[in-house]
Amino acid sequence: VGAVEAAARGGRDGVVLPADALGEARLVRGPVLYGVRTVFEALDVLAGKGRPDEGRRGPPPPRARGPEDADLREVRGQRQARRALEVAAAGGHNLLFEGPPGSGKTMLARRLPTILPSLEDAAALESARIRSAVRHLDVHDLHTPPFRAPHHSATAAGLVGGGSPVRPGELSLAHRGVLFLDELPEFDRRALEVLREPLEEGWVHLVRAGQAVRFPASFLCVGAYNPCPCGWAGLAEGRCRCPPGSVQRYRARLSGPLLDRFDLRVVLRPLTPEQLFDEGEGETSEAVRERVLAARARQAERQGRGRLNAGLREEELRAHAAYGAPERALLRRLVGQAALSARGLRRLERVARTVADLAGAPKVGALHLQEALGWRLLTDAAETAERGGGAASG
Ligand SMILES: [Zn+2]
Repeated sequence: VGAVEAAARGGRDGVVLPADALGEARLVRGPVLYGVRTVFEALDVLAGKGRPDEGRRGPPPPRARGPEDADLREVRGQRQARRALEVAAAGGHNLLFEGPPGSGKTMLARRLPTILPSLEDAAALESARIRSAVRHLDVHDLHTPPFRAPHHSATAAGLVGGGSPVRPGELSLAHRGVLFLDELPEFDRRALEVLREPLEEGWVHLVRAGQAVRFPASFLCVGAYNPCPCGWAGLAEGRCRCPPGSVQRYRARLSGPLLDRFDLRVVLRPLTPEQLFDEGEGETSEAVRERVLAARARQAERQGRGRLNAGLREEELRAHAAYGAPERALLRRLVGQAALSARGLRRLERVARTVADLAGAPKVGALHLQEALGWRLLTDAAETAERGGGAASG
């Protein structure tokens, strides 16, 4: 994709390329393509005897979802978690799931791309450029936001990219989509460190062989972890077999500054068969996506295109919240009684702004703050782990 784009920019009339690469090269409008299988065919093209490619050009039509696709409809129960996905998608908030094995963390995370807006042509091409550099390209799937779930044994280089020539890593493959990090505390500390730059700037910067390269890496991050190494602390009376101290050490691996990038935390409980049965089918991804799109449109109108609530600075946040006297009083009470830190308060306000946008409310009201506070109360344990990690890293 990159080479054909370069040829197009350079005003070339035609490009000779391996026939296998025609599919992705057709994404780029412009030069005539000649797909060849042998050197002799290439020479024919140069001699003016080649047959130009006749495939359809330009980005493919927007996604048409088939029945084989994952859909939120299949998630039964988990009302809190479904709502968290919706808020995350609407405001661009990174999301943390804490829960034992089998509580649906992966199933939920996999469905986050299905409620994100489809990639527009420019974004689809940008994503295709990255994916074609590492040969992860499904040409039929270009408008669906990517979902990447690197294993916790992934190295820092595997995440940010590397090699010669330099290739993008998992963080860039997730560009415009979702990066899912299951078993977050099991990741190597250095691998977690490299997350911070893309989470803040949407780019990864690499220096390889004296050459500076940067790759786009703007994604929604979903982290998941078990309550303890075995997965059952605080649940299913007596099932946790972790020695004392190991639970704390496990949680302390998540550093405070990293956790600070996650606005939403949800604690998942294992569901009983009855709960699964009673709840019935959930809403479809399409229905949820409609609300996400509406909430994003409100943010674009207020903050500018592409600016989501999760990226608002403190002063912008206050300006766009337009609190009245009751909301300001509530916030003061929260800081006093709930001992909310400045960071915790910012997270809460960002989430509350998104909750208000989902409700179509121009101002952030007490109810929106209450819901955002609810997310926080659900996650006291994570907050404690954060304090431990924060203290350890100074
Ligand atoms: Zn345990």
